[in-house]
Amino acid sequence: MKILVSGAGVAGLSLGYDLGIRGHHVTIVERADHLRGNGSPIDIRGDAIEIAEKMGLLPAIHDARIRMTEQVHFVDENGTAIGRLPDDIGDSPDDIEIDREDLYWILANALPETVDLRLSQSVNSIAEHDDRVDVGFASGDPESYDLVLGADGMHSTVRRLVFGPERNWIRHLGLYVASIDMPGEADAEAERINPMFNYPGHLAGIGRFKDKAIAVMMFASDLIDYDYRDVEAKKKILFDQFAECRSWKVPAILDAVRDDPDIYFDSVSQIHMPTWHRGRVALVGDAGYCASPLAGRGTSLAMIGAQFLAEELDRSDGDHVTAFPRYEARMRPYVEFAQGTVEGGAALIVPPTQEAIIERNQMLQPVEAGQ
Ligand SMILES: Cc1cc2nc3c(=O)[nH]c(=O)nc-3n(C[C@H](O)[C@H](O)[C@H](O)COP(=O)(O)OP(=O)(O)OC[C@H]3O[C@@H](n4cnc5c(N)ncnc54)[C@H](O)[C@@H]3O)c2cc1C
Repeated sequence: MKILVSGAGVAGLSLGYDLGIRGHHVTIVERADHLRGNGSPIDIRGDAIEIAEKMGLLPAIHDARIRMTEQVHFVDENGTAIGRLPDDIGDSPDDIEIDREDLYWILANALPETVDLRLSQSVNSIAEHDDRVDVGFASGDPESYDLVLGADGMHSTVRRLVFGPERNWIRHLGLYVASIDMPGEADAEAERINPMFNYPGHLAGIGRFKDKAIAVMMFASDLIDYDYRDVEAKKKILFDQFAECRSWKVPAILDAVRDDPDIYFDSVSQIHMPTWHRGRVALVGDAGYCASPLAGRGTSLAMIGAQFLAEELDRSDGDHVTAFPRYEARMRPYVEFAQGTVEGGAALIVPPTQEAIIERNQMLQPVEAGQ
């Protein structure tokens, strides 16, 4: 079949691989002019590890494994460690943490030659017919496909064009999150720790892995109305939110915000939809079932969803009318589980008041010398 995938994140690249090796002619369009590998490291968990094994990518993923979460220390405004997360939160044997960029390149390098990856391109119209889908693009000529798959993230264009506006599906969890490259911090301290500093309703932290450092910023807020494609608008929101804080390394982090041309900034939200397919169009990954960064399972859901969809198309000889509901039935329990794990996470990471910060700190484990 001739299949269009919108978005070259983990969901889109996994679809390219899973469908391409089954002999389908896949075109992936990515709006950015490069693979967007920036951001914090990501987790491959549970059944996604088995999926990676089936894809033949597990050895490369293991080779690129990093361990970051276990070294998170909460610090006070002077940078003195207050405590660390209890052992049962964070890294676990069924959790492989990997630099987002490494996973992108492992997936991209594994794409069969028949997969056509087009950067700086996006869908701007979709018209479904009995035997095909006609797609218009931001540039170039329209084309027809047998299937269109939306893997274009939480603010999916395919979802908006086919299923309706984002406000119908988004469930905001009350936080915003940003990650910012902070190269100056990469070797700043001998200890490889990841300090996190809270003040009411805010978190600022630094994560170190490999030879990189990223700053993480989170704050509590209702949904904010801004153009999510406008990087300067995102930066302004961060400046406004953190402007009054002169403590710890927050001023230096704001300098890093100014210097990073491609920060990641988004609401901590979930996407809940009654169905992920309509006619010849289906959604995979955050586009259909974002679980939010609090779940730490978005990458795994994207990889599992891509493989289930490809397998079900195989099993039904390419009959999407049979395959899409089967994909959805297999995927639903994973999504419901992942989306259900976020309870209490926001208050733990970004306590809303000084009292809540003190209460949270009481459950931290002491940091031993040398840890
Ligand atoms: C740059 C970036 C940084 C991230 N950093 C973090 C992080 O630090 N912490 C975290 O928890 N999660 C982060 N995420 C989200 C995380 O990647 C996803 O939750 C998870 O990996 C599922 O991936 P996905 O492929 O479904 O969606 P995404 O990773 O969002 O990928 C969607 C892709 O589609 C592209 N796209 C969007 N709209 C269009 C369009 N109209 N046409 C064509 N392409 C389009 C995007 O540029 C992106 O490459 C980040 C996502 C991105 C894009």
